[in-house]
Amino acid sequence: MRIDLHTHSRASDGTDTPAELVRQAARAGLDVVAITDHDTAAGWAEAAEAADEVGIQLVRGMEISTRHGRLGVHLLAYGPDPTFPPLAAELERVLHGREARVPTMVARLRALGIDITEDDVRRAAPGAAASGRPHVADALVTLGAVPDRTAAFDRYLGWGRPAHVDRYAVPLATAIAAVTGAGGVSVVAHPWGRGGLGRPDEATFAELRDLGLSGIEVDHQDHGAAARDRLRAIARNLGLVVTGSSDYHGEGKTDHDLGCNTTDPDELERLLELTSSRAAGTA
Ligand SMILES: [Zn+2]
Ligand SMILES: [Zn+2]
Repeated sequence: MRIDLHTHSRASDGTDTPAELVRQAARAGLDVVAITDHDTAAGWAEAAEAADEVGIQLVRGMEISTRHGRLGVHLLAYGPDPTFPPLAAELERVLHGREARVPTMVARLRALGIDITEDDVRRAAPGAAASGRPHVADALVTLGAVPDRTAAFDRYLGWGRPAHVDRYAVPLATAIAAVTGAGGVSVVAHPWGRGGLGRPDEATFAELRDLGLSGIEVDHQDHGAAARDRLRAIARNLGLVVTGSSDYHGEGKTDHDLGCNTTDPDELERLLELTSSRAAGTA
């Protein structure tokens, strides 16, 4: 039983359509795949149809951009009702904030001498719920300004780089509460990965668990062996579910092939039990 709980489609910054993503997952030998686009459920319906066709189990998820103090935290949410008003309102704010910063990033890049326009960015985001920073990165690649998306972040768009623009992120406690209220469960994505503003420690995870957090994404390409061991121990100490996943983006990210990390079936079962008990209003 092979389970991958974190993947992106073109509904955010992946390069596969939701249907292609699901077919690729089946081809890669996965039994279960979660679609977890950034801050949107826009790919769910198409992915569900494809999952029925190819006979793979689909978990409906999303990856919410949140902030906890000075920490930038990606929060995976599984099974929430995206129309639950408090959740829908926050997702709308994030999507709007993401789109609103594109003109500022473009202006800063132009000031740095790069001939990029907002149209270039829109062309790099076919089918996306909102164009954002990864699409600016892709436009820079297309224009030949950088060799790949990673270089675009390292040179221009990442935290502290000259074209970086801050944007709205949901306060983490608000996000966890909204996901729980919407009948879903929350898992912190790649907590010790790149791109964040720091590393949450065990005390922070304990705080988050008390707010309703259910799990930690331990097995992720951004985590080395020592980080995985330490995070697994923290999860065990705190009774949190351990997940593993690829964070697949199609051709948008190298070294993140479908199934390169997987989740133990027992851990998925724990997550799904929490989801169904919430949906039934018993937790
Ligand atoms: Zn992430
Ligand atoms: Zn992701």
